[in-house]
Amino acid sequence: MASDDRTNRAATERHNDHTAHAATTHTVEANKAAGRRTPDPADLERARRGHIASLSEPVITSPEGRRVFDIGAYEFLRNGNPAPETVNPNLWRHAVLNAHHGLFKVVDDVWQVRGYDISNITFIRGNTGWIVIDPLTSEHTARAALGLINEQVERRSVVAVIYTHSHADHFGGVLGVTNRAEVDAGRCRIIAPEHFMRETIGENVIAGPAMARRATYQFGPLLPPGPRGHVDCGLGNSVPIGPPTLLAPTEDITHTGQELVVDGVRVVFQLTPETEAPAEMNFYFPDLKALCMAENCSHTMHNLVPIRGALVRNALNWSKYINESIQLFGAAAEVLFASHNWPRWGNNDLCEFLVLQRDLYKWMHDQTMRLANKGYTPLEIAEELVLPEEFQQHEHTRGFYGDLVHNSKAVYQRYLSWYDGNPANLHKLPPAEVGKRYVELAGGADALLVHAQQAFDSGDYRWVAELVNHLVFAEPTNERARSLQARALEQLGYQAESSTFRNAYLMGAMELRQGPPANPNPNVRARALVREMTVDQVFDTIAVRTMSEKLGGVSLATNWTFTDLVGTPDERWVLGVSNRTMYSTRGVHTSDAAASVTLTRSKFLDIVLQDTTFVDAVKAGAVLLSGDAAALITIFGNLDTFSMGFPIVEP
Ligand SMILES: [Zn+2]
Repeated sequence: MASDDRTNRAATERHNDHTAHAATTHTVEANKAAGRRTPDPADLERARRGHIASLSEPVITSPEGRRVFDIGAYEFLRNGNPAPETVNPNLWRHAVLNAHHGLFKVVDDVWQVRGYDISNITFIRGNTGWIVIDPLTSEHTARAALGLINEQVERRSVVAVIYTHSHADHFGGVLGVTNRAEVDAGRCRIIAPEHFMRETIGENVIAGPAMARRATYQFGPLLPPGPRGHVDCGLGNSVPIGPPTLLAPTEDITHTGQELVVDGVRVVFQLTPETEAPAEMNFYFPDLKALCMAENCSHTMHNLVPIRGALVRNALNWSKYINESIQLFGAAAEVLFASHNWPRWGNNDLCEFLVLQRDLYKWMHDQTMRLANKGYTPLEIAEELVLPEEFQQHEHTRGFYGDLVHNSKAVYQRYLSWYDGNPANLHKLPPAEVGKRYVELAGGADALLVHAQQAFDSGDYRWVAELVNHLVFAEPTNERARSLQARALEQLGYQAESSTFRNAYLMGAMELRQGPPANPNPNVRARALVREMTVDQVFDTIAVRTMSEKLGGVSLATNWTFTDLVGTPDERWVLGVSNRTMYSTRGVHTSDAAASVTLTRSKFLDIVLQDTTFVDAVKAGAVLLSGDAAALITIFGNLDTFSMGFPIVEP
């Protein structure tokens, strides 16, 4: 075939192949065999129980009219239909439950608003006002939730906010329920587990841009809602679009057994560090017999490492702390609620729930390491382990969010790293290079595609994905390869029980058809989090942008003085370059500094956030500079920038 013909055909195919395809007969069969197609009646009852009212307008927008969250786009989950052929029936059941939305009474004095954010907001009636647990991800969704309870139950002000843990979907909406003035005036307490701020900022600083890009694959916010697109996020329906806000805690919980009286309500805390989050806590309201399990228990298997990427979580700790919760609160609790999904009622039921959750994380941990110690490698363990019937028969221990295939690898990685111990895998060729060689070995692109098409026709989609990935990386403009790869990933997505796997597969398919996002939104940046960064964290973050190749032979040091940190260890810093590496030293100045900089931490953050430039700040007198300005240009003039739209499914 002449190359022009091929180009024309490819262009036509790309044009025709822009949208999602139907399920193949193999996918239809696989999904038929996978499970029941309607929700468990007991869970349906739990997800509906206590419903008072829903928002009259299902689209939540910002004051500027930007769409933040739209549960109305998920009506297809609420019409009573059984699972369509393009959605795994188990995931469909779960998605139907997560699509319930509104204000729900949990028990007397406890309400939740669910379904307008990926997380839940819980309201406890205190003596005078509302105690808010986890004010959602977005101030707009949080404000809508507060409005709903104020309208439907009682108009009250928020007198306390409890953050269960250091993830943005549990504090990011805080400015929707209170404000800095209320907190500064002592009218609103903010209570969090110890090290909350350090972990909140720390988890997203160094890897921020990569994690944010990969998160679009995990949560799928760019996928159109629908049976061939986005249906669920496991922990909730979907994520709101927009940056988080943050108010620092006014009180830390430092030990298990610590008790506070918050607006007349007794709360007993259990610290659970290094579990689902590095800083997290469960707590119990003895007078209400109500137990909050934060995000340590949800109605799904959670992630031991999310596919967006993160430090691997400690499955053993996680299980042990659930066990401790049973010991501390299991005898008396009559209701259990959490930061995601729906509550459990009755002591027997909630204790059974806790035991299964406890055993799930321990089972994944123990069985992965058992096989690892017998010499199995991560890919083999993921293939060997099958979730036992004891967990499969309960909805809340199935992998609607986390997935055993991924979680077993996380356990392995935590103890033994990504490396499987086989030196053939120690220094492998990178994807584009190995791709070219496999394509050549296969007899060229056309021959590889013939084989891959046969595999596709037989429903062997994992093999197609492996094979055609080589060709896409060898020839990223090969439209037939991109199209076949997109179709294979799509069928894998349609069959996936895990929402994160489905979202990732469908995002991959979409980007093979359309390319990476052309105008990734740089404004969805966590400004509120950057504002809270320490000097150390800012210097560490800047250092990751150092273009080492431009710093050969450079050795210099600069002195920094932060005038709003006088008397603290952060007042003085040395920032320098040595061996092509940026380093920072706290608490000192050096006598051979090439330049000295005097400014406030706040002005420094303005520069980091690009609200002003270093040069403009010097001109305005907000930054005092002495010595050799060229030294600072050497440091700050050789910083890399990161794109939020880097390619993932192609080179
Ligand atoms: Zn969460």
